Amino acid sequence: MPDNVFGPAANVYDPDGDRERVLACAHLVERCGGAAFEVGYLHEDAPTPEQAGWWAVAQWAGVKLTSGSDHPSPGAACDALAQRLLDGGQCRCGKISSTNPRGVMGGDRTTLLGEKFTLKQQQERGVCVWRRDGEQWKPGCDAPPRRLTAAELKRLRG
Ligand SMILES: [Zn+2]
Repeated sequence: MPDNVFGPAANVYDPDGDRERVLACAHLVERCGGAAFEVGYLHEDAPTPEQAGWWAVAQWAGVKLTSGSDHPSPGAACDALAQRLLDGGQCRCGKISSTNPRGVMGGDRTTLLGEKFTLKQQQERGVCVWRRDGEQWKPGCDAPPRRLTAAELKRLRG
């Protein structure tokens, strides 16, 4: 488990299922070689927890990946972060990873790492569908989890 798995805010608000979603994202970040993972919210005085502006952030050496800060719960922020990490990545099985249960990322799509995949390319190369199973994001294959490569980290830094 990386350091800083939970920001102080994450323990405050925990609707059903949120803990699992947060843990699943934390495990995923760790499996991708992340050094830190944090969950929090922007607005201390929001009228409801849903309006607090939840965010999740993962960190690699010098690289931060964020969910954005407009999410209604910690779990939603963590799902968004996991999707950013998984959609358009390369699974260890060689296929493109995606969280879309229909097996594609959608139409022409530019991934987090700046790669562009047309629908045709997605179909040719194959898509490995990842889904969250309780506290774990699991690939649709038996290949062990991968870490981000040095080249991918460099591209993330921009
Ligand atoms: Zn796979």
